Amino acid sequence: MSAAPTARLMTGTHIARDLVERSAAAATDFARGTGRAPCLATVLVGEDPASVTYVRMKRNRCAKAGIDSRLVALPAATTTAELVDTLTGLSEDPGVDGILLQHPVGPHIDERAAFEAIAPHKDVDGVTTRSFAAMAFGLPGFLSATPGGIMRLLDAYEVDPAGRHAVVVGRSAILGKPVGILLLQRNATVTFCHSRTEDLTAAVRRADILVAAVGRPRFIRGEDVKPGAVVIDAGYNPGNVGDVDFESAAARAGLITPVPGGVGPMTIAVLLAQTVEAAARGAAAGAFVPA
Ligand code: NAP
Repeated sequence: MSAAPTARLMTGTHIARDLVERSAAAATDFARGTGRAPCLATVLVGEDPASVTYVRMKRNRCAKAGIDSRLVALPAATTTAELVDTLTGLSEDPGVDGILLQHPVGPHIDERAAFEAIAPHKDVDGVTTRSFAAMAFGLPGFLSATPGGIMRLLDAYEVDPAGRHAVVVGRSAILGKPVGILLLQRNATVTFCHSRTEDLTAAVRRADILVAAVGRPRFIRGEDVKPGAVVIDAGYNPGNVGDVDFESAAARAGLITPVPGGVGPMTIAVLLAQTVEAAARGAAAGAFVPA
């Protein structure tokens, strides 16, 4: 039986709500100045139930924040070339401020080629190589939404990564790698772990800040969490289960994100914030189209 939780909860719900409220206010200002609301184009290929749900959720949040969302639903048989054409068209469409390609797309599609068809100034989900490079160089650009949300969560709970040992389990291009780089930029000493890491347990045990981004339910066990560590569970597995065994980890951590209600709400909030920012930057550059 695990001990009673001692960690403070790092909930993202209210932090995300604040960010969405600020984005909604900025969307109103944008609409007042330009005569149209900021617009996020959401591209969905096929009818994967999880993807359909995610897209619906994001569009609902957009509507509540005063952001127009344009759904582009393509058949499952869409080819890479057709998807690239669609994304190129949206990139050139002055009425679209941000573009989200819901992924994963089907295995027959070259996902990277599709992402690269998104113009960097509309890449509000931070998936292009140019956005990644800008992030890695510390230049202005849009962050991958989940890593951006994790950094905002750390700031909101006044966790300063400087000098601390951060361990990121997972190295995907949209999550593990960028969050590790962002932590490095904030002067953490960063270790990346992945499926070929030889002694994962030893690495995890050294973490002052642990980010779990593995995609395996309850993969991180509480007994491996350093007492007092900050535990960020980015995992989201079927049944609302994270990548961390919450109960046992909460007995040792200092701060821990719940699943759901931790990282998840931050991801959508960052997507909305970056969409409004893309619209405002476009307007400042004279690119907006009056209604
Ligand atoms: P991914 O692309 O599948 O990457 C998973 C990573 O975990 C890979 O780097 C993989 O290593 C590593 N890994 C797998 N098995 C491992 C093991 N046994 N030991 C050590 N490392 C292992 O997944 P992702 O897209 O980054 O997503 C990760 C999790 O975050 C998922 O649960 C996903 O649902 C969740 N997520 C949540 C949000 C949100 O908004 N909350 C957003 C995005 C993702 P290799 O590279 O060596 O294969």
